[in-house]
Amino acid sequence: MKTIGLIGGMSYESTIVYYKLINKIVNERLSGLHSAKMIIESYDFAEIEKEQSKENWEKLAEILIKSAQKLEKAGADYIAIATNTMHLMADDVQKNISIPLIHIAEATANYIIDKNINTVALLGTKYTMTKSFYKDKLINDYKINVITPNLDQQDIINKIIYNELCVGLINDNSRKLILDIIDDCTKKGAQGVILGCTELPIIINKANIPIINTTEVHCIEIVKRIIT
Ligand code: GLU
Repeated sequence: MKTIGLIGGMSYESTIVYYKLINKIVNERLSGLHSAKMIIESYDFAEIEKEQSKENWEKLAEILIKSAQKLEKAGADYIAIATNTMHLMADDVQKNISIPLIHIAEATANYIIDKNINTVALLGTKYTMTKSFYKDKLINDYKINVITPNLDQQDIINKIIYNELCVGLINDNSRKLILDIIDDCTKKGAQGVILGCTELPIIINKANIPIINTTEVHCIEIVKRIIT
């Protein structure tokens, strides 16, 4: 088995899910007492969020590159960043390490193609929904149509992610708000919805259209790569 180097803590609520799911899938595949070989670098998310809110992506790239290099030095065979948003710096990270980065949006796009879905709604942080790093990959590299919620809806989702889900708060009213937004995207043509934030599957586990759980899809891909 190869070793995964996981960059996490963004937030710890979803890194817990990564840790558990990667081990669980490895155990299902290998049985017995098998579990994953994993090295985790876990941040203080307050420090990361502070730079995100200043849109200081250069500094965040430096931070991620340092961690990825540290994990490579420590013996990781692959790197995974346990958040969609921070894939904004994924290309910078890949350029500065000599081991492969397992990209969450690429794993997600392949999953969508496998399911024969052509048009998806993309839900995530405001950075993931508005910037090109995620959407353009799906549209240009995989020919998937992407619908994003309107600005008011984006604001609602972003606040739920940072103010509630990242600190472990699960609120029924917030779940309803997100499901209403998904229904609205369905009216605009979405055949599936990308839960493009690794905390969203904590609150949403089904909708009126198929959900694409990026945390799970990413973990499945990670296990595929570390077990050869
Ligand atoms: N984990 C979230 C994501 O998948 C949001 C937190 C972050 O900004 O990294 O985008």
